[in-house]
Amino acid sequence: MAKEKKYDCIVIGSGPGGAPFAWRLASKGMNVLVLEAGPRYNPYTDYPLNKNNWELEGFPHRRKLKHVFGKRQKLDEGKKELRSWNRASGRLNPSNERMYLAYHHVVGVGGSTLHFQGEAHRLHPSAFRMKSLFGVAEDWPIDYRELEPYYTEVERIVGVAGPEGVPSRPRSSPYPLPPHKLSFASQVIEKACKKLGLELIPNTVAILSRPYRDTPPCNYCNGCQWGCPRKDKGSVDVTFIPLAEKTGRCTIVTDAFAGRIEVEKKDGVKRARGVVYYDRDGKEHFVEGSYVACACGAVETPRLLINSGINENGLVGKNFMETVFYLVVAFHPKRLDSYRGIPIDSVIWKWNEPNPELGFKGGFRLYPTAGSAVGPVSYALRFHNGWGEKFVKEVERWFGHAIAIGGIGEFLPNEETFVTVKEDTKDEFGLPVALIQSTLGESEIRMLEFMSKRAKEILEASGAEEVVEEFSSYDFFSATHVFGTCRMGKDPETSVVGADLRSHEVRNLLITDASVFPSSGGGDAPSLTIEALSLRAADLLLKSLKKEG
Ligand SMILES: Cc1cc2nc3c(=O)[nH]c(=O)nc-3n(C[C@H](O)[C@H](O)[C@H](O)COP(=O)(O)OP(=O)(O)OC[C@H]3O[C@@H](n4cnc5c(N)ncnc54)[C@H](O)[C@@H]3O)c2cc1C
Ligand code: SF4
Repeated sequence: MAKEKKYDCIVIGSGPGGAPFAWRLASKGMNVLVLEAGPRYNPYTDYPLNKNNWELEGFPHRRKLKHVFGKRQKLDEGKKELRSWNRASGRLNPSNERMYLAYHHVVGVGGSTLHFQGEAHRLHPSAFRMKSLFGVAEDWPIDYRELEPYYTEVERIVGVAGPEGVPSRPRSSPYPLPPHKLSFASQVIEKACKKLGLELIPNTVAILSRPYRDTPPCNYCNGCQWGCPRKDKGSVDVTFIPLAEKTGRCTIVTDAFAGRIEVEKKDGVKRARGVVYYDRDGKEHFVEGSYVACACGAVETPRLLINSGINENGLVGKNFMETVFYLVVAFHPKRLDSYRGIPIDSVIWKWNEPNPELGFKGGFRLYPTAGSAVGPVSYALRFHNGWGEKFVKEVERWFGHAIAIGGIGEFLPNEETFVTVKEDTKDEFGLPVALIQSTLGESEIRMLEFMSKRAKEILEASGAEEVVEEFSSYDFFSATHVFGTCRMGKDPETSVVGADLRSHEVRNLLITDASVFPSSGGGDAPSLTIEALSLRAADLLLKSLKKEG
C-alpha cells in the first residue's frame, strides 16, 4: 500500500459539506487534502445543454456509488389520489408496495450541487426546534441566530438572489443580488394565488440575476439539472472549490474513493490516524491526517463510518430522513412558454412554519414549476401517446402549455427508516455497499394529502384545464434531499456528533455534511444550511486549535 505525506486535515467528499470546510481551513494556513470519489467536470464542455440531444442525455454521470434498498412499504389502496400517474402511461407504480426509484446524487467535484436547482434557503427558525415545539424529531443544539452570520457569508460567496421580506427569517444584511423577475408561468400562478388569498413571492436562489463572481447572469434556459454550462448556478465547483484551490494549501485528488478511516485507541481514547483510499486504477493508498472530516452525503457517510468500525452507540445510519415530494402537472389553454426561466423562480411559504392543527407535524412549501417538462421529449414521453404526424402535431400543439405545482415538506425520522451496510453485497473494492430503507409515517402521508389538494386548487384557479401527471413520494422513493444519519446533539448517548460537528466517539473526526441534521427543515432546500454549518465547524475547530496553542 502506497503511503503519502501527512496533512493537517483530510476532507472526504467535495460537495457543500466538504468544500467550504476545506476552504476555511486552508485559508487559515492548514494543509488540506480533499479526497473526491468522482471526476472533475468542465462546465463549458461536459454538460449537454449546448447539444441537440440535451434532453435525452441528462446529467453526464461518469460514476455512481453502488447501493441497495431495503424493505418496501405496503400501500393503502384507498389512497388512490396519492398515486403517481401520467397521461401517456397511466399508473407509474402498478404494485401495492412503495417502489424505490432512486437516491439522486452526483459523484464528482462539487457533489450533488452539480445537478441541483440552485434554490438557496435559510431554514425557518422553528425548524430547529421540532422536539420542544411539536414533540417530534430532535432539537438542533444550535439555533437560527447562531447560523445567521454564516448564512450571510455563504450567500455572499455563492451569489444569492432574493427578495426582501422572506417570512420569519431575520437577516443582518440584504441579499447580495436582486430577485429574478417572475417568469410568465409564475405570473399566471401569482394571479391564481391572489384569488385564493395566498402570497407568491420570488424564490431565493444561488443563480445570478446580475453579473457576479466574474460571470454573466443567467440566460433562463431552465436546464440546471443538466449542469449549468455558464457557471451561473452557485454549485460548489464554481464557488468554494476555486477559493480553496487559490489558497495554494488545498490539494484535491479526484477519482479517489475513501474506503476506510483508520482509527487507533490509546489510553482508552480513539483517534483517526488517516484514510485508506483507492485511486482510479483500484490501487490502495494510505494517507495520514491530524484531523479527518467526512462529507460524503447522508448515505455514503454512514456507510464509510460503519465500514470503518465507528459506531459505538449504534446510532450511525439511524434517523435517516428523505424528501416528502408531490408534483401535479396540467395543461393551460394559453401557451405559457413554461420551459423558460429558472427551474423554481417563486414560492408560496404559507405552510412552511409547522402547524399541527393541519393534521401533520412539519412544514412544507409549494412552488410553480415546469415540472421538468422543459423540452419536447418530456411532452412526447409523459403526456402524449400515438404515432406519426398526428402525434408530432399533438406534441407541438401543447408544447409550452404544461404548468405544474410542486411541494416539498418535512420528513420525520422513524425506526423503519435508516441507512446501514449490506454485508453480502460488495463494491469493486470488496466493501459492503449502503442499504437504504425508508418508510413514510402517518404525518408525511397526511401532509401529502393536504399538499395535493392545495396544489390542485391553485392550478384550477389559474385556468389550467387538464391534469396530465401527478408524481408523489407516496408510492415512490425518489429522494433528492437526504439527511440525519449522523445526528448532531449535545448528548453522546443520543447523537453522533456535537454542535461543533466533532464525533463523540473519535474526537479528531468531524462530519460536515447533511448527515448531521436532527430534523429535515420544512421543505427548505438544504445546501445553504449545509454550507453554513460546514464553515461554522471549521471556525470552531480553528478556535480550539488556537486555544491548544
Ligand atoms: C435533482 C436535485 C435537485 C436539488 N436541488 C436542490 C436545490 O435547488 N437546492 C438545494 O439546496 N439542494 C438541492 N438538492 C439537494 C442538494 O444537492 C444536497 O442536499 C446536497 O448536495 C448534499 O450535500 P452533501 O455535502 O451532504 O452531499 P453531496 O453533495 O452528495 O456530496 C458528497 C460528496 O462526497 C463524495 N463521496 C461520497 N462517498 C465518497 C467516498 N467514500 N470517498 C470520497 N468521496 C466520496 C461524492 O462524490 C460527493 O462529491 C437537490 C438534489 C437533487 C438530486
Ligand atoms: S437556468 Fe440559468 S443557472 Fe440554470 S442552467 Fe440555465 S443559465 Fe445556468
